[in-house]
Parts: sequence; C-alpha cells; structure tokens
Amino acid sequence: MSTKHQKPEWRRTCRIIRTQVRLAHERGEDVPCWRCGYLIEPGQRYDVGHLNPDGGEGVDNAAPEHRGENRSHGGRLGARITNTRRKARQTGMVTPPWA
Ligand SMILES: [Zn+2]
Repeated sequence: MSTKHQKPEWRRTCRIIRTQVRLAHERGEDVPCWRCGYLIEPGQRYDVGHLNPDGGEGVDNAAPEHRGENRSHGGRLGARITNTRRKARQTGMVTPPWA
C-alpha cells in the first residue's frame, strides 16, 4: 500500500497539492482537511491523501489531510479537539477548491 506513494506521478501530485496549500495559507485562505472537514492550520503538519484509493495518482484525486488521519485514530481525535475550538469561531463548512 505504501509503495503506491513512491510513484513519480504521486510525488509530483503531492508537490502540487502542497504548493496549493502553502499559497492558500499565504493568502490567508482556509485549507480544510478533506477527511474531517476541519481546517489545516498554517504550520500544521499534514499529508496528501488519495480521495479515491482506486482513483489514480493525479492531482484531481488528491487533497490535504491531517497527518496520521488515514493511519491512526489517535491523530484524528487529537486534531478534532484542536479544530473543534477553532471551528466554533468559523461559520459553516468550507468547500475546498479541489473538491
Ligand atoms: Zn482531518
């Protein structure tokens, strides 16, 4: 499973997504995690995940997600606590530009 992440196309896709996230943060835009919908904060570590496990390695099948969210429940729960506080100050769900 982890071997698929080593494909050149996926590495390129990850670079594109990470650039998009960085630029969005620089513009002060919200970057939501596609898995849980809570925000990925500037400086917070995150991964680039497949939207569809069988959807290929292209950028249209990739989106940022909180680090560890696709592997362990611990990361998800920790992120939820942090993000719930922030979410309380936000209004409504943010639709990511890549969704
Ligand atoms: Zn998340």
